[in-house]
Amino acid sequence: MQFSTIRIALDAVADYWTALIFRELFMGAEQWSELEAALEVPPSTLNKRLKELVALGCLERRAAPGRKESRYVLTEMGRDLFPFQMAAREWQLTWDRRPGVFVTPWVHQCGAPLRCSSLCSQCHQLIENGDVRLEESSVVLVPYQAPPPRHRRGAGATARDARAKSSSYPKVMAVIGNRRSSMVMSAILRGQVRFDEIVRQTGLPTATVSEQLKQLQLSNLVHSRLYQRRPDRYEYQASEAGIDLVGLALQLISWANRWLADRGAGATRAIHTDCGRAMHSRLVCSTCREAVTLDTCHLDSLGATARTSA
Ligand SMILES: [Zn+2]
Ligand SMILES: [Zn+2]
Repeated sequence: MQFSTIRIALDAVADYWTALIFRELFMGAEQWSELEAALEVPPSTLNKRLKELVALGCLERRAAPGRKESRYVLTEMGRDLFPFQMAAREWQLTWDRRPGVFVTPWVHQCGAPLRCSSLCSQCHQLIENGDVRLEESSVVLVPYQAPPPRHRRGAGATARDARAKSSSYPKVMAVIGNRRSSMVMSAILRGQVRFDEIVRQTGLPTATVSEQLKQLQLSNLVHSRLYQRRPDRYEYQASEAGIDLVGLALQLISWANRWLADRGAGATRAIHTDCGRAMHSRLVCSTCREAVTLDTCHLDSLGATARTSA
């Protein structure tokens, strides 16, 4: 039984709280109490997510001498998710400029407020919207088995639902904060446009796929087109904003292929259609074109203190 690396990666990181935990860790949080206070996350949920990230290899739990509380330190694998999160932030900055939506104020080492672009590792050109074809190699499709439910209908789920409805909810979370939605979106981005194809590719139940397609259309990430009458059949295509999610997919694929390739998974390949070659995409600063990593970026201290909403 084999999953693609991208599927394993989505299972691991496409989750509302996981995305927020990484955001805080990248901003320097290390203590359990710091995370809990910053996110207002239910303690049991926080514990569960931290445990999962330790098991995955993204975090190390270290006892702090003389302190009751242990520290959570990002491993190299965890730090390497920074470009993915910055690609998500870039998408957010491009497609969701509503006031009141918090975007972490990162600055690149060149001094410019961080804006990012994707670079092709083969031809070293910037990758434009839609210049990418995503392919899967040696993937055996198996029915999707939902992991054990992560949110009981309790305080956690209610808080999350409330955030989802609030106007300060970053739009990009509709995809990276929801694994089913991200699976459907990634199938569409890989060229599966008909309902049956999406069901087959994701292995999700048809009702789930319908629901996620509805949500993706409400978020204007996907459009539908009637291609047959009686019975009516639709095909689904990514909108311009939806196609731009390829920038996030590229960073996640690069990360997954670096860190998950030995976990019995088939690799997902990204072809740069401009140069026609399979590539790894590198995230670079749009101003100086140097790499965007946790080591080459820092927080804008003024912006950080002005932070008001989650
Ligand atoms: Zn290229
Ligand atoms: Zn720069």
